[in-house]
This record gives sequence, structure tokens and C-alpha cells, in this order.
Amino acid sequence: MNALLDGKAAVVTGAASGIGRAVATRFAEEGANVVVADVREEPRQGGTPTHERIRTETDADAAYVDCDVTEADDLRAAVDAAEAFGGLDVMVNNAGIFGPMGSITEIPFEDYRDLMAINLDSVFLGSKIAATRLVERGEGGAIVNVSSLAGLQGYGEIAPYCAAKAGVRNLTYALADDLGPHGIRVNAVHPGEVETALTTEDFPVVGTEQGEALKATIPLRKLGQPEDVANAVTFLASDMAGHVTAESLLVDGGARNTS
Ligand code: NAD
Repeated sequence: MNALLDGKAAVVTGAASGIGRAVATRFAEEGANVVVADVREEPRQGGTPTHERIRTETDADAAYVDCDVTEADDLRAAVDAAEAFGGLDVMVNNAGIFGPMGSITEIPFEDYRDLMAINLDSVFLGSKIAATRLVERGEGGAIVNVSSLAGLQGYGEIAPYCAAKAGVRNLTYALADDLGPHGIRVNAVHPGEVETALTTEDFPVVGTEQGEALKATIPLRKLGQPEDVANAVTFLASDMAGHVTAESLLVDGGARNTS
């Protein structure tokens, strides 16, 4: 059987670390050549840079592009870099931050704007640049956006994050409608709590009392791993999902049911 993404060219934003790194690696294992687009080369959790790991551990090729997803020129450079792999087929808008926490009465508006720029505006911009290129190529394609369980639920401590991720969800639906006639599928994944630097450093849940309490409320009684999300993104990016678009795929161990 052919690999799921044989010969495809993909751009994955935020692919130096965490979920994006797992997606880029899984894509490469499935035969895709990958542009790792990030503001850093070194994984936040340590280890070999993703593009080097792909080159040494898989048969696929990979390139790193220094890309701040809030900058259109950087995103364009990442999509351009996919030309070396035959031209863009798959765009994954994954880069994101956790952002300001606290009551709306305390969060500075500027912090909200910064979060929206990285977590929502970037998905619009990345999708716009990718879609323009995919429409020009005329061979269809796939865009997968990384939202969150917080894009479906409202958590009082992280209102900006919830707003951005809900925006990603509905933007996904709208773009699926817009781009479907071109054979371009647009889907979103919604991870629950996943073990990455985001949940060990930025918002330390993993290994804490709060984390253990959270696990007990999740039907599968465990937090997610980056590879769990990568598998879902790989499915949505592949031809196996050829008739799937405007989908919000939860990867949360069932947490939505109980949170
Ligand atoms: P992470 O911090 O481990 O990795 C995020 C990567 O994005 C880093 O390599 C970072 O350098 C990069 N990045 C940050 N700002 C950037 C920018 N402006 N331009 C380009 N790259 C940038 O985090 P993660 O947990 O892997 O999160 C990835 C995505 O998954 C985010 O969108 C996050 O909101 C989402 N998510 C994470 C969880 C979780 O529990 N970890 C849950 C739901 C959704």
C-alpha cells in the first residue's frame, strides 16, 4: 500500500516543537516532503531540529524556514519553499501560543490583540496565501487548522484563547465552503490537553495536582500526546479524507463530553 502522503509537499507552521513537530514527522513518515515554518529551529522540548530529524530518520526531505506567522512575507516564503518539493499540496496552520490568563477585568487589551494575531489572524493569512497558491496550481489540496477543545467551550481564565480558537473553527467552515469548488478541503482538529511545552511550561498542567484531577474527568483517563493529534491531522491531509471537509475533529480522549 502507498504511503498516505506519497510525494506531497506540505508546510507546517510551528513545526519546531510539540504538535507541529509530530505532524511534520508523521507527514514525512507517510511520504511527504515538509517545510518546517517556525520562529525557532530548536524544539522547545529539546532534541534535534525537526527538519534535520526528518532528513536523517525518514526517506523524505525537509527544509526549515524562519517564519513568524504574523508576517505575510514570512508565510509566503514558507509556501515558496514548498516549490522545491513540487509545489504546495497541504498547509497546516498549527503555530500558536497560550497567551494571557485571568479575568477579562485584568487582561490588557494589547495582550488580547497579540494573542489574536498569532492564534487567529495567522490562520487567515496562512490559509489565504496557501489557498491562492493551491487555486493557481489547480490540483486541489488540503488545509488543516489546529484549533482546540477551547474552540468549542468557554473557559473563564482564558477568554482570548477561547475566542481565537472558536474563530479558527468557524473560519475553517467558511473556507471549506469558499474553496470546496476548487477541490480544496479545509478541516480543523481540536485537541484537548496535550503533553507539550505549552502544558508543561506555559500553562503547567502536566504532572500537577490539577493535571491529575483533569485526567480523572477525561473518559480515556489520559492526556493526549502530540502523535495523537498528528495522526488525526495526517488523516485529514490525506486522500483517505477525500470527501471530508468543514470537519471539526476532536482529539481529546472524550473530554468534551465531560468538561
Ligand atoms: P508548543 O509551544 O510546544 O509549540 C508551538 C510552536 O509554535 C513552537 O515551536 C513555537 O516556536 C511556534 N510558534 C509560536 N509562535 C509562533 C509564531 N508567531 N510564528 C511561528 N511559529 C510560532 O505548543 P503546542 O502544544 O505544540 O501547540 C501547537 C498548537 O496546538 C497551538 O496552536 C495550540 O494552541 C494548539 N493546542 C495545543 C494544546 C495542548 O494542550 N498542547 C491543546 C489544544 C490546542
